Amino acid sequence: MRAGIYIHIPFCKSRCSYCDFATDIYRGSKAVDRYVSALAGEIASAEHKGRVADTIYFGGGTPSLLTPKQLEKIVESIHEIFDIRDNAEFTLEMNPGTVTRENLDEFRMLGVNRASFGVQTFDDHALKLLARGHDATDARDTFSMLRASGYSNISFDLIAGLPNQTLDAWRKNLREAIALEPEHLSLYILEIHEGTPLAEQVSSKRQPAPDEDLAGEMYKLMQKELGAAGYEQYEISNFARPGFESKHNNKYWRLEPVFGFGVSAHSFDGIDRRWSNERDTNRYVGLVETGSSPLVTDEKLDDRQLSAEFAFLNLRLREGLKRSVYRSRYGNDVFVEYGEELARLEKLGLVAIFDNSVVLTGQGMLFSNEVFEVFV
Ligand code: SF4
Repeated sequence: MRAGIYIHIPFCKSRCSYCDFATDIYRGSKAVDRYVSALAGEIASAEHKGRVADTIYFGGGTPSLLTPKQLEKIVESIHEIFDIRDNAEFTLEMNPGTVTRENLDEFRMLGVNRASFGVQTFDDHALKLLARGHDATDARDTFSMLRASGYSNISFDLIAGLPNQTLDAWRKNLREAIALEPEHLSLYILEIHEGTPLAEQVSSKRQPAPDEDLAGEMYKLMQKELGAAGYEQYEISNFARPGFESKHNNKYWRLEPVFGFGVSAHSFDGIDRRWSNERDTNRYVGLVETGSSPLVTDEKLDDRQLSAEFAFLNLRLREGLKRSVYRSRYGNDVFVEYGEELARLEKLGLVAIFDNSVVLTGQGMLFSNEVFEVFV
């Protein structure tokens, strides 16, 4: 099975108030140079010599803070170990205000053919509240620069349910996004993560707590508006023009092999082994520099865990969980194994059951956690 490669770049210009990812504040190119060397070292010592891969994904953090030279060094080390297919999807995550036209051109020369960037909202006041470090004009400029540079596969993210955001304001965001005509959109409902500045603002009542009913309305509105504009909802949070679904993310949802490198990166061998790296950047760099393994977890999953995970990850996708695929992978009939639970969910209108598949309904996508609990 062809693999995906994930590279984590932890640096960000500032820290967004809702973020709980493994990130570090960008303090200039020198610290990044050291990280890049460690990363290249980790890739060079990987066990996957000659393994065929058809997706590369640079996530973060803010990978667009890399200089073209730094990106080139990592890309070279990937090519030394992996057999990267010619038509591989190569995504670089970006943030508005961190890219120049020159850099975008050079990134493209290095093979980047898909850009994914965080817009989150076109409302400057909300962007300030989220401490995003850019405004809506930066986001629009990033989009125009990408197009001018020749990127023909662009995705960006929006967040619904921001503090004080009305349904009308969300509609305006959706319409502005559609007017830009990206190939792909990722749309999330705001989650408040413990320990973040936003969580503190909500608990001290300086910001309102999320309104679940309103978030539900927003979710339905985005399904309607994007559907009418020709986008297909191929996953709970992802919409694409036909043919522009994220190939890399599909590998996670289908439990295919993805090898991750860098601080906090996770890997799965596509069979039954999963492992992850150290979450602290300095410790990660120190470990790799001294020739030690940066792994902090390494586990073998049993069939029960794998089949349950396969079931709920596949249910995230529009085409749902295929009975025949599940049987050929795990030897069981999912309709028998989870028969009672699926019948209950069907009665609640959360799933639809067909001869060879079970899929989430529109309502089921909104209440997907309730559905997934059945398998966990
Ligand atoms: S840009 Fe992304 S990774 Fe960086 S702080 Fe903001 S949300 Fe977190």
